[in-house]
Amino acid sequence: MTDAPATIQKLTGWGRSSYANSRVIEAKTTEQVVEALRSPAAAPVVARGAGRSYGDAALNEGGYLIRTTGMKTVHSFDADSGEIVIDPGVTFGDLLYNYASRGWIAPVTPGTQFATLGGSVANDVHGKNHDHDGSIGDHVRWLELALPDGTLQRIDSSTTPDLFAATVGGIGLTGVITRIGLQMKRVPGAALLVRERRAANLDEYLDALQEARTRCRYSVGWIDGLSTGRALGRGILETADHIEDPRPLRRRWRAHMPIDLPELAFNSWSIGLFNRLYFQRIPARGRERRLDLAQFFYPLDAISDWNRMYGRRGFVQFQCVIPDAQARAALHQLLAAISASGLASFLAVIKTLGRAGVGFLSFPTPGITLALDFPVRNNTAALLDRLHGITTDHGGRIYLAKDSCVPAGLMPQMYPKLTQFRALLGQLDPQRRMRSDMAHRLQL
Ligand SMILES: Cc1cc2nc3c(=O)[nH]c(=O)nc-3n(C[C@H](O)[C@H](O)[C@H](O)COP(=O)(O)OP(=O)(O)OC[C@H]3O[C@@H](n4cnc5c(N)ncnc54)[C@H](O)[C@@H]3O)c2cc1C
Repeated sequence: MTDAPATIQKLTGWGRSSYANSRVIEAKTTEQVVEALRSPAAAPVVARGAGRSYGDAALNEGGYLIRTTGMKTVHSFDADSGEIVIDPGVTFGDLLYNYASRGWIAPVTPGTQFATLGGSVANDVHGKNHDHDGSIGDHVRWLELALPDGTLQRIDSSTTPDLFAATVGGIGLTGVITRIGLQMKRVPGAALLVRERRAANLDEYLDALQEARTRCRYSVGWIDGLSTGRALGRGILETADHIEDPRPLRRRWRAHMPIDLPELAFNSWSIGLFNRLYFQRIPARGRERRLDLAQFFYPLDAISDWNRMYGRRGFVQFQCVIPDAQARAALHQLLAAISASGLASFLAVIKTLGRAGVGFLSFPTPGITLALDFPVRNNTAALLDRLHGITTDHGGRIYLAKDSCVPAGLMPQMYPKLTQFRALLGQLDPQRRMRSDMAHRLQL
């Protein structure tokens, strides 16, 4: 047995539709991570952060999880260069609330402040500024990695390029990240000028998005997943740029979802009504307003446990990216299939991605990304099959951070560097000590 105390816990992904019983080791220090990895009994094993991945990336049925949320030390911060050295359990919220007032923020952030930096490097996460700033891996100067046998190694893109590329976006399979050297970004204040405008249909939307991606630092859009006919793909495009604002960032009160909503509350009639009202909330001429960084980056964090609104069976998120040249045709097909299914929730987001990520399994590639939640119902799996087919037919790929059901057979065409990733894992971890339910499902 491992010396590190482990408790058996039933954990889920953020979508609450993938479950696993695992032995969980709570690591507070690098030494505890190393000790757990050196223990032959503690296998198969994988790290877990804040559990904000939607599917099975941070689950390990019958195996071990090393949870690194308790590793939260900031080791150093250089206020001139913006380089920060942190533990993997530091979250985007920790960085925002402690450093924005000093003029520095994380260069890239996902849509929740609760994700840890360790978990986010392992998914090479992107934000609403990908065209300008890339994904998190582009800003990682170096990592300290506890390898599958417990050896500590410092890695970076120039001295250990393959191990670095396998670790950034490598969903925890090269070992446990125990320290991160990250380049922060300088900002003039804790506020943004946000512009919102309606787009009447998909073509108008995509034209506006193309123009916004070069002109504005941030761009993101909501799309009405139930609209049909000439309104197919209508939505609201939001763009934003930093502005000077001396006011400090305040933490806001958060509402709480106390129960699992009944499934009946969630139907195409109620979502259709919500979508109509949400679309009309923006005046036809558009509007401009000042938002603080947390309001713009993390709107969903305003309600804790919002993932309970889909009912007890939970939900799945579908997120694909389609290369620019194929995006218009693919999005028409995807949205037509989604609206015909009647399954879409109101959480439907569209963004642009500007370049390939540094990782072998990095999700970003130049194109348009569409993300939608679907409650788990009897016809959800069939819809996802169809959406995966449209995605791969148009040269696209699915984001592993959100996934729980892509078949292993689709991986080689979605991720052409999978061969290099597998080859490196074969050398690094011949016994396959590192394992997650996702790695098992996708035969990584
Ligand atoms: C509301 C919401 C909005 C989101 N928006 C975005 C978005 O805009 N862009 C985007 O890219 N993603 C987005 N995500 C996804 C999220 O950013 C990623 O899933 C992120 O990886 C979650 O981090 P975590 O700490 O919860 O990691 P977990 O989900 O716990 O783990 C993720 C992966 O990282 C590995 N891991 C965790 N810690 C370590 C470690 N110390 N060392 C090595 N591997 C580790 C795990 O094994 C797992 O494979 C969103 C998620 C939510 C819930």
